[in-house]
Amino acid sequence: MECLFCKIVKKEIPARVVYNDDHTIAFLDINPANPGHILVVPKKHHETVMDADNESLEKAIVVVKELSKKVKEEMKAEGVNVLQNNGKFAGQLVPHVHFHIIPRFQDDMVIISYKRSQIEDAKMEEIRKKLE
Ligand code: AMP
Ligand code: ZN
Repeated sequence: MECLFCKIVKKEIPARVVYNDDHTIAFLDINPANPGHILVVPKKHHETVMDADNESLEKAIVVVKELSKKVKEEMKAEGVNVLQNNGKFAGQLVPHVHFHIIPRFQDDMVIISYKRSQIEDAKMEEIRKKLE
């Protein structure tokens, strides 16, 4: 079975498109967290942000910026979340790299949450060294 977002790119299934160029398409999320929830999708198929080519990502992030400004203005949003999930344990449902733009409003009941922890200094330094 071919990828859902590739099918949208090829116009084989419909979507409410808000932006389209050679590299990037953006359309309304079919189950929005809030009205105006947009998905920005590089047209080339890659599963995650780690797999995607830099050109596709560079083009997409500029579209994310411009559409974030637009959605904030047009939906009269008070804030905007830009989210990006990689892998099913990170909440990725559609295995074609994409960015969520979610307009936010005071008391909108959208929950994006994680428990914050504290890690001891030595462990933090060990982690930093691994990641530098
Ligand atoms: P993620 O969990 O990051 O993979 O997000 C996938 C998103 O795609 C979800 O928010 C879905 O609501 C959305 N989605 C699934 N199918 C469609 C579709 N046909 N058109 C628009 N959005 C879709
Ligand atoms: Zn795809």
